[in-house]
Amino acid sequence: MSYLFPTYARWNVSVKEAKGSWVTDENDKKYLDFVSGIAVCNLGHADDDVMQGVQDQLKKYWHVSNLFHQPIQEEVAKLLVEHSDGEAVFFCNSGAEANEAAIKLARKHTGKTKIVTFLQSFHGRTFATMSATGQEKIQQGFGPLLEKFTYLPYNQTQALEELEEDVAAIMLEVVQGEGGVVPAEQEFIDKVAETCKRVGALLIIDEVQTGIGRTGKPFGYQHYGITPDIITSAKGLGSGMPVGAMIGASSLIETFQAGSHGSTFGGNPIAMAAAKATLTKILQDDFLNEVTEKNIYLVNKLNSIIGNHPLVKEIRGKGLLIGIECKEQVSMMVDQLRDNNLLVLPAGPNVIRMLPPLTVSYEEIDEALGIIDQTFSTLKQSAVAH
Ligand SMILES: *Cc1c(COP(=O)(O)O)cnc(C)c1O
Repeated sequence: MSYLFPTYARWNVSVKEAKGSWVTDENDKKYLDFVSGIAVCNLGHADDDVMQGVQDQLKKYWHVSNLFHQPIQEEVAKLLVEHSDGEAVFFCNSGAEANEAAIKLARKHTGKTKIVTFLQSFHGRTFATMSATGQEKIQQGFGPLLEKFTYLPYNQTQALEELEEDVAAIMLEVVQGEGGVVPAEQEFIDKVAETCKRVGALLIIDEVQTGIGRTGKPFGYQHYGITPDIITSAKGLGSGMPVGAMIGASSLIETFQAGSHGSTFGGNPIAMAAAKATLTKILQDDFLNEVTEKNIYLVNKLNSIIGNHPLVKEIRGKGLLIGIECKEQVSMMVDQLRDNNLLVLPAGPNVIRMLPPLTVSYEEIDEALGIIDQTFSTLKQSAVAH
């Protein structure tokens, strides 16, 4: 008997505690967590500095509203601005809300309405962000959707060439996360940026999953040498305290005046304290370079262990957002890996997605590789059997 809406296909795991790269269930079974609360706990579970920051803030005050100046909001915004191409930040509570703010800002600023996104994208579950999401399964049963959203094929340039000047914004992920861990190609990103200039549209990069060090840069778009007008962030930003942010270019600042947009909880000081501690730790060159080194180590080892496995098609990703594309549906493999104490996620029907904490140790990576090796070798036998 549950008192909750059954909106999630929950695993048969009841959590007792979580620390670092590990989750312990009520039966004291320990799982190596390569999900990280879905790209949220980038410093691992219950990071000591984040905990300290939150505890210190709790003792000072924990909510007063945005009628007050709250210096901690300025501190977090400064960190975000210093490590991105934006100049001002709007704080909210989730990825969907950050994208909502971006869509509202783009329409108000340009006076245009059409928003272009991409097939297999994911931008959230609210009406605007669901309308922006290029996946029918997310939208089914909820129509009519918001008007003026169009979806183009990802990593293809031709449809972009046909866009005209009625476009307010083009919004995309630089690695499609939910859609199957699909990194954008440089040529495609260049064409998107060029198209925005040509048609007078804003470039919105949804960094909700790819931001906050996940790909080895503060934000994933920084691999591509482009300058977005708007960057949205959430997931990893508060290490598990709910927080989202929309970061906008200087030319957009005057478009949002007092009363244009708002959020009761946005910029909540507890969330800000968590974000400040998180950003202070992650936005260091040494830390980010290690994410890239771990990517190289993990992807090389994965290739040597399962690269030639009959079920594996491709191993790809950026930083510690890694996908194993398989030739079959992966839900059973995800379940078996979990039975064998490794937590991973599906991304689309055929991709196993790994999002270890950015703080994962090489020993833990080796342990995960051992579980993957063992699990895939039993899969090989069963695949041969039928
Ligand atoms: C998770 C996600 C969202 C939605 O974030 P919520 O906090 O669940 O609203 C939006 N965009 C991307 C790319 C995401 O991965």
